[in-house]
Amino acid sequence: MRILKFGGTSVGGAQAIAQTVAIVAEQRGHDPNIVVVTSAMRGVTDLLIDSAKAAAAGDRQRYRDARQALIARHRDAAEALISDLEELDQIATVLDERVREFERLCMAVAILGELTDRGLAVISGLGERLMAPLLAAALRGRGVPAEFVDAGELIVTDDIYLSGNPQMEATRARTRERLLPLLGRGRVPVTTGFVAATADGIPTVLGRGGSDYSAAILGAALDADEVQIWTDVDGVLTADPRLVPEARPLPELSYSEAAELAYFGAKVLHPKTMLPCIDRGIPIRVLNTFNPTFPGTRVVAQMTNGSGVKALTVIRGLALVTVAGRGMMGVPGIAARTFAAVAAQGTNVLMISQASSEQSICFVVPEGDAARVAAALETAFAHEIRHREIDGVTSERDIVIVAVVGEGMRGTPGIAARLFGALGEKGINVVAIAQGSSETNISLALAARDADSAVRSIHTAFGLGGS
Ligand code: ADP
Ligand code: ASP
Ligand code: MG
Repeated sequence: MRILKFGGTSVGGAQAIAQTVAIVAEQRGHDPNIVVVTSAMRGVTDLLIDSAKAAAAGDRQRYRDARQALIARHRDAAEALISDLEELDQIATVLDERVREFERLCMAVAILGELTDRGLAVISGLGERLMAPLLAAALRGRGVPAEFVDAGELIVTDDIYLSGNPQMEATRARTRERLLPLLGRGRVPVTTGFVAATADGIPTVLGRGGSDYSAAILGAALDADEVQIWTDVDGVLTADPRLVPEARPLPELSYSEAAELAYFGAKVLHPKTMLPCIDRGIPIRVLNTFNPTFPGTRVVAQMTNGSGVKALTVIRGLALVTVAGRGMMGVPGIAARTFAAVAAQGTNVLMISQASSEQSICFVVPEGDAARVAAALETAFAHEIRHREIDGVTSERDIVIVAVVGEGMRGTPGIAARLFGALGEKGINVVAIAQGSSETNISLALAARDADSAVRSIHTAFGLGGS
């Protein structure tokens, strides 16, 4: 059994969809048991979310314009791909219904003047719910017996509407109950990425870019042999190709390397994609819809090769918060209190670093949270600040993290020296550094203005551009 997930560019228009259809038909030759997961057309989710937000602010024109654009893009694709008139008529009805649903929801948001997470979840999932029936129809047009299934019937999450957490047991039961009979009859289920529902059937979504995660969840539920992520690049590359044009595809990555890269900003995989696959050891392959014979990247538990630094990523829009003071030295519990105060703010800490002199603790958080976190720490340490045991709490904005990833870094001497050598040559100052205990990742906090040059110089210093 294989799960095939197609991203927004792979279904971005008639030509791309035709390519996707050809890939599904070809894969079916290798294994008749396949499940197709699709994203919304490129840009559609953004359009839906922007329209809903504009509606909440009283702007009704935005969703009316969006409605026209949605209908036009999907109809154009349907007309180019589906020649059977009855099929075309049916799909046109489905598309019309969905778009009317979008308009009604936005109208309700405009009347209420408020957009709840629950409302936004329904609206933002409509792109996948437009695309999946269209892709199923296009597949049938090519002789593949495809059948549309809404993933709201398959993936059960909690009620965090915009980034639902899957409940795997319930998901497994529903997915198997719904999809195994279809597969048994030789059908190809075509389902929506990104969308899910609570146990009571209230629509949720899995967070932006969550279709990759959908594919992995379904792969685990069905004990698939492989999860294929079809996108618009030749696999996971040594760096973001928009930043480093000479970046090259990596043949193989471990789950933890892929997870580190995704977590630190490599958009090609949603950071949670690896989780459902790890338990059952399901390999993930990242493949290029527009270069389908290229082997892409295999993400697996045990690598057959690979050493040293493999890839690097950059995550932007961060701030560095520092708690400093001579009085902190040897005082137990400062770190625990610091992170308890931060956790109470619901803030995600991306990196932590403590100087061995114990005179400061610094950590990196999203820029938008920095002021709130600093204020919470000043309150938490009010006593120590008054008694000058802690000098104070500072926050520095315009910070990025450059993450250097590779399992083979473990036990390879000289990596840090090479890293700092490359940065030193460019006169780039490292504000803080952290190395995870797994030694799969070295994270460097830098000033935002140095990010691009740092990534390029590290890429070159480690010869990642290849031959
Ligand atoms: P999809 O719509 O197929 O899910 P995404 O846009 O979410 O595709 O992810 C693919 C994009 O991720 C690529 O086009 C590329 O620009 C970007 N990207 C960033 N970092 C990397 C990386 N290290 N390797 C590959 N692609 C990357
Ligand atoms: N369409 C959703 C998004 O843009 C999910 C995805 O593409 O993976 O976030
Ligand atoms: Mg994506």
